[in-house]
Order: sequence, then structure tokens, then C-alpha cells
Amino acid sequence: MSKHIVILGGGYGGLLTALTARKYLSAEEAQITLVNKTPFHQIVTELHRLAVGGLNEGNVALPLEKLLRGKDVDIRINTVEKIALDQKQVSLANGASISYDTLVIALGSETAFSAFRGSKKTASP
Ligand SMILES: Cc1cc2nc3c(=O)[nH]c(=O)nc-3n(C[C@H](O)[C@H](O)[C@H](O)COP(=O)(O)OP(=O)(O)OC[C@H]3O[C@@H](n4cnc5c(N)ncnc54)[C@H](O)[C@@H]3O)c2cc1C
Repeated sequence: MSKHIVILGGGYGGLLTALTARKYLSAEEAQITLVNKTPFHQIVTELHRLAVGGLNEGNVALPLEKLLRGKDVDIRINTVEKIALDQKQVSLANGASISYDTLVIALGSETAFSAFRGSKKTASP
């Protein structure tokens, strides 16, 4: 029976997970859904070049649809609001929910400004 793998996040972790899972699992073996809040995979490691004018925005934001074309991955552009582990269900900002058999959480990280007093004012992530 086909399993439903739901991947949250289309950054490095999420995108590579989707591509690798599809490499080893056929569409009959697994349905793969990737959820990301924007239609783009951001090349985070190149952002500094954008900041200093060495690149344009299109070079650091690649369409997920293009990167996953032909891979049989269902792309959902939406924000993840809640994960109900008991029910194996993810809720999205548009009110939809997605059930999963296997969940991959690859939503990135946030800067912990609380580590140093005053850093929120004086530092940038
Ligand atoms: C400026 C900069 C330069 C870096 N340079 C390097 C480097 O040279 N080498 C290196 O190894 N690492 C580098 N890193 C670190 C590297 O970018 C991260 O380790 C990597 O991006 C983490 O991947 P990830 O998939 O966990 O998260 P991310 O790449 O952050 O992806 C998270 C994804 O989840 C999505 N998302 C977040 N919240 C939600 C939500 N609620 N609902 C739906 N989608 C959501 C985001 O839109 C994003 O697409 C750099 C980081 C920065 C900021």
C-alpha cells in the first residue's frame, strides 16, 4: 500500500529529502507532498552576494515547481500552522489539513536573540 510522506519546508533539507525519497521510492510505493510557504527554494548560501549587489534576486530564489518537475511530488504553497502528532495531521494557514504516514520537519531555524542581552537591537541574523 502507498505511504504518504509529507515534507515540511522546501529549503536544503526538505528539497533534498523529496528528491532522495523519490529516487528510492516509486509513485506506487509513496505519495510525496512538500509544503513551503513560498513557491521558491532560496539559495541561502548565496544571499550575501545578493546583499552586496553581485547577483539578482532570480539567482537566489529558484522555483520549487521547476526543481521538482517530473518527480511526482505534490507541492503545496502554504504556511504550516500546527502539527498534531497524535492524529498524524498538519494544519495549514488556509484551513486545509494534510494527513501523513511519515512526516519530515525541515522548517529551518530562527535566531536565538535571547542568548545575548541587547543583541536584538545590535545584531542581524
Ligand atoms: C547568509 C547565510 C549563509 C550560509 N552559508 C552557508 C554555507 O556556506 N555553508 C553551509 O553549509 N551552510 C550555510 N548556511 C546555513 C544553511 O543555509 C542552513 O544550515 C540551511 O539553510 C538549513 O536548511 P533547512 O532545510 O534546515 O532550512 P532552510 O533552508 O531555512 O529551509 C526552511 C524552509 O522552510 C520554509 N518554512 C519555514 N517556516 C515555514 C512554515 N511555517 N510553513 C511553511 N514553510 C515554512 C522556508 O520558507 C524555507 O524554504 C548559511 C546560512 C545563512 C543565513
